[in-house]
Amino acid sequence: MNPNLADKAQPFTQLPLKPELLTNLVTMGFKQMTPIQAQSLPTILQSKDVIGQGKTGSGKTAAFGLGILNKLNVKRFRIQSLVLCPTRELADQVAKEIRTLARGIHNIKVLTLCGGVPMGPQIGSLEHGAHIIVGTPGRIMDHLDRGRLDLSEVDTFVLDEADRMLEMGFQDALDAVIEHVPSLRQTLLFSATYPKQIEAIANRIMVKPKMVKVESTHD
Ligand code: ADP
Ligand code: MG
Repeated sequence: MNPNLADKAQPFTQLPLKPELLTNLVTMGFKQMTPIQAQSLPTILQSKDVIGQGKTGSGKTAAFGLGILNKLNVKRFRIQSLVLCPTRELADQVAKEIRTLARGIHNIKVLTLCGGVPMGPQIGSLEHGAHIIVGTPGRIMDHLDRGRLDLSEVDTFVLDEADRMLEMGFQDALDAVIEHVPSLRQTLLFSATYPKQIEAIANRIMVKPKMVKVESTHD
């Protein structure tokens, strides 16, 4: 084996993760952390704010997904985490990966709330409650405006693909959603690029974030 590879081996087992999460990572075939996971997870798991910049495929979903799940108290049936994504497709992918990471955590409920989907069934699902919401900013705001969504107990707030969210014109919805989450929380922001507008948002909504930047899926 290439000795450099051995040096860089970063097994998930070195992290203070719940045993069921470590078991699921094995089942999923995730052995080593990707560079962005290795650089961000120790800080994420301390419940601190992190800005993660990395291209598609660098493993950002598991980085924040494990952060959410490691902290989550499944016995508290309240919305404890909110993940905002730019599109329904991305929200569905994120929700799917979080559910896979959460396999075996009894009764955990991950709900997607996205635009382009009829309101009725979403309202019904919301009435049944959830631990984690993954959705698009516009639709989340719709539910908040109608008083159907209570984010007052959110302690992990994630902006995924923040640059694309801005490109899609979600700045106002984003600002409005932020007003509904407690100020005492962990905020995680992921983006492929880090333009000035994102920096401005980060300065406004994050507390001493750790910046993690990786160039690719490999070092
Ligand atoms: P990003 O959000 O950075 O574009 P994803 O989180 O979607 O990337 O991850 C890309 C792919 O890599 C997904 O199929 C995911 O399941 C897989 N993956 C993530 N982390 C690992 C890992 N540590 N080991 C193996 N595969 C991984
Ligand atoms: Mg992603």
